[in-house]
Amino acid sequence: MTDQFLFPITEEHEMIRLAARDFAQKEIAPVAAEFDESGEFPSKTIKKMGEMGFMGIEIPEEYGGAGMDTLAYVLALEEICKADAAHGTIMSVNNSLFCYGILRFGSEEVKQKFLVPVASGEKIGAYSLTEPMSGSDAGTMRSRAVREGDHYKINGRKSWVTSAPVADMILLFTMTEPEKKHRGITAFLIETDKPGFTRGKKEPKLGIRASATSEIVFEDYCVPVENRLGEEGEGFKIAMAVLDAGRIGIAAQALGISEAAYQASLSYAREREAFGQKIGQFEGIAFKLADMKTRIEAARLLTYNAAMAKERSKTTGERYSLEASMAKLFASETAMFCAHEAVQIHGGMGYSKELPVERYFRDAKITEIYEGTSEIQRLLISRLETELR
Ligand SMILES: Cc1cc2nc3c(=O)[nH]c(=O)nc-3n(C[C@H](O)[C@H](O)[C@H](O)COP(=O)(O)OP(=O)(O)OC[C@H]3O[C@@H](n4cnc5c(N)ncnc54)[C@H](O)[C@@H]3O)c2cc1C
Repeated sequence: MTDQFLFPITEEHEMIRLAARDFAQKEIAPVAAEFDESGEFPSKTIKKMGEMGFMGIEIPEEYGGAGMDTLAYVLALEEICKADAAHGTIMSVNNSLFCYGILRFGSEEVKQKFLVPVASGEKIGAYSLTEPMSGSDAGTMRSRAVREGDHYKINGRKSWVTSAPVADMILLFTMTEPEKKHRGITAFLIETDKPGFTRGKKEPKLGIRASATSEIVFEDYCVPVENRLGEEGEGFKIAMAVLDAGRIGIAAQALGISEAAYQASLSYAREREAFGQKIGQFEGIAFKLADMKTRIEAARLLTYNAAMAKERSKTTGERYSLEASMAKLFASETAMFCAHEAVQIHGGMGYSKELPVERYFRDAKITEIYEGTSEIQRLLISRLETELR
């Protein structure tokens, strides 16, 4: 396969890929439909994923992680998402949006307090940038942190926080100097068992239903100065750097959904008969499969390339925003394309809850929305291209 000779897939990578595949197929796939239906958070399987090192793959072992590289993370996440994208969302937020941010920007004390328990899977981490009136445009957020001596007092409402209903710790972005817009945003680490923090209602969602999402509310919540991540006003820079890493995770998630949709379609096309032949023998169906396969391979190349670019940046310090955005944009649109075609190839059964293809269709859509919509990725890619020229 392409990934074998274009990318340095080592024995260690192969081991984590197979471990993730085995776990996902044996432990997650059989319960995925049930958790999708109930919308319940899959605590047991997530706990086991923590024990297997999947909740902090790129975090060094001294901070509770598995000490592997970005490609290992992508390969494992792809396998988890082939079985269930909701488990993948929880894993991705924990790894890239919470742990990576602290590893990159946290002091030693902050790493010990917040990174070790979350990277080891003992506790769950979340990331909170979005607000009811501020999504793509973070500079308009209304929540506030006001410094009072050795602590800040936080007030406001944040929305769409993945894992918030169960999270122990949250990387929060809020305004310290609103007049400076995005340059007035500061990052804080929040412990959810402290007074002044409450969780809002769980969002009823179209897809990734087992990944709990809710609003969070701060009412005179006191956060000590030492729980600030970076300096005042550095929050936007941190949020965007963390999203670069996150977008590679979403690309891997999209790749997993695409592959699951393709495999299901291929099997169905080989079995289902119409007009006296297998439906895969009709050119109309065979061409759909050819397009799915080709787009998946292109998405894989972009995703693994972005993983390699992130890995290189650990030594060169070079940005990998362009690679991450292109991978996220293309892989998410590939997931939507493949899931749409998969439903069509399955005909009426594609619309039925008896098969997982309708779930792939519902789950695929989110990859075009969170961590920057497709429109925002196009905006970023066009700007980054202008910068580089
Ligand atoms: C299931 C789920 C989980 C999520 N998890 C998290 C999380 O854990 N943490 C977190 O902080 N957020 C999270 N989000 C929020 C998510 O990142 C935002 O929904 C997303 O960034 C879009 O913001 P918005 O919903 O406010 O849309 P808006 O910004 O209001 O955009 C609406 C539409 O306008 C378009 N648009 C906006 N600006 C432009 C522009 N400049 N040019 C062209 N088109 C534009 C958008 O692309 C979109 O089509 C989650 C969302 C969902 C649905």
